[in-house]
Amino acid sequence: MKTTLAIVLLLCTHLAHAGTNDALSNIDHDLMRDSHNKGLQALFVRDQVNNAILQINTWLEQQPDIQPEKMAAVFDIDETLLDTYAFMETMDFSYSLDELDDWMATGSAGPIQPVQALCKMFLDAGVNVYLLTGRHEALRAATEENLKQYDCSSWQKLYMRPSNNGSDQIKNYKLAAFDEISQRGEEIILVIGDQHPDTLHMRSKVRVKLPNPYYNIMNDDVFLAFEDLKKSN
Ligand SMILES: [Mg+2]
Repeated sequence: MKTTLAIVLLLCTHLAHAGTNDALSNIDHDLMRDSHNKGLQALFVRDQVNNAILQINTWLEQQPDIQPEKMAAVFDIDETLLDTYAFMETMDFSYSLDELDDWMATGSAGPIQPVQALCKMFLDAGVNVYLLTGRHEALRAATEENLKQYDCSSWQKLYMRPSNNGSDQIKNYKLAAFDEISQRGEEIILVIGDQHPDTLHMRSKVRVKLPNPYYNIMNDDVFLAFEDLKKSN
């Protein structure tokens, strides 16, 4: 019971800038391992996906005439469709973004099954699926190869960040992609991801922020405040 509570608190309070080492140094890595290996993370994800399906079905019941080809679902990739836990665990949760990119280039991330199944459900129904990731263009071939190993193996478009798109530009990059999809005349019925920028499309019928017990990408204001806090301690 104590362990479960501690993990839940970790899920709620863990703040770390993705890919930075020092922000992670005080986190109990055993708790992150337990969250993954004892199935708590998978349980939370499955619960979120089930809730999303219920919400989407409720909305669809009120839209009897909408056609699948006029609907869109937008999926993030890492810690949403693909699981980078194997890399993080191997690196003892401390790594650089370059090391992460090198690993992603191997195309060996595992699937996050409930989200893969959700994506396949949309694909089978004829709903347009879009993938919107923080990965850079240089990883396109490896990312596509990795994705095609699992259920979410086709899509209308895979949005990847241009090479000159920095971490501080992720929010605008994602908003621009949401705008482009909306301009195609498709109703965005779902956006799902593990970071807050993934769910910025406020007009999506259902928005799902999945738990991520391993890292959070801070917005600039929070990141600077966190850096100040570290300096003062
Ligand atoms: Mg992600």
